[in-house]
Amino acid sequence: MEIRRLRLSGFKSFVEPAELRVEPGLTGVVGPNGCGKSNLLEAIRWVMGETSAKSMRSGGMEDVIFAGTEQRPPRQFAEVVLHAEDDNQEELVVTRRIERGAGSAYRVNGNDVRAKDVALAFADAATGAHSPALVSQGKIAHMIAAKPVERRQMLEEAAGIAGLHVRRKDAESKLRSTENNLSRLVFARWRDAAASADAARKAAIEAERAVESAKERAGETETAQREAAEKLADARDALVAARTDAGAQEQRL
Ligand code: ATP
Repeated sequence: MEIRRLRLSGFKSFVEPAELRVEPGLTGVVGPNGCGKSNLLEAIRWVMGETSAKSMRSGGMEDVIFAGTEQRPPRQFAEVVLHAEDDNQEELVVTRRIERGAGSAYRVNGNDVRAKDVALAFADAATGAHSPALVSQGKIAHMIAAKPVERRQMLEEAAGIAGLHVRRKDAESKLRSTENNLSRLVFARWRDAAASADAARKAAIEAERAVESAKERAGETETAQREAAEKLADARDALVAARTDAGAQEQRL
């Protein structure tokens, strides 16, 4: 990947829109101390998705927005646009914009994308915000004293496998979130099943009570029927006796 142009607006000391062209050959940036040379390199790292404010020499990420001077009010946003050409000579235009209180937003070739898409695009091209190809102040000394892990990172980047690492991390985090979703789903199903079992248990207890009270009522009715049958038999006996008595009275008459 080759960087062709960098446009800055409201980024650190670049309050007015400014453009850095990278022509074929060697491009040098010269200027007095504090004129913003390092800010240019930081702008490249920033548009590539840098997330560490400390490595931008800032307290918080919003500190990259022009903070104002005695003569000029502060800006509300900062924007950096990087024009590059990938290995297939395709143009790549990456924009990062930060607004006070709203955070960063990225665009690649005019489309809104996520920060990790930008990081992946640069990682696939064996570069990125943490690429050893971007040598900031003090970086040479850091490389000489680099730990084996950091040296390995440099070699992997040179071999073009940094993008695979980013993809692997991405896939791992997707796998983790799928596992979490799965356990949530299993738990939700278990909770629903436990609630249904509870409701069924309550319904069974209610039904048992209803059966008990129906049995009680049936017993009472049976007793009443027996008593009524006894009374009926007594009444029949009395009727027979009365009829016999009536017959006898009739004869006497
Ligand atoms: P040197 O040659 O000393 O390394 P340099 O040219 O690399 O200097 P930089 O470090 O890039 O200069 O720029 C520092 C300047 O940027 C300082 O003047 C600082 O005030 C200014 N600056 C940094 N952040 C902001 C900001 N958020 N708003 C306004 N100015 C800023």
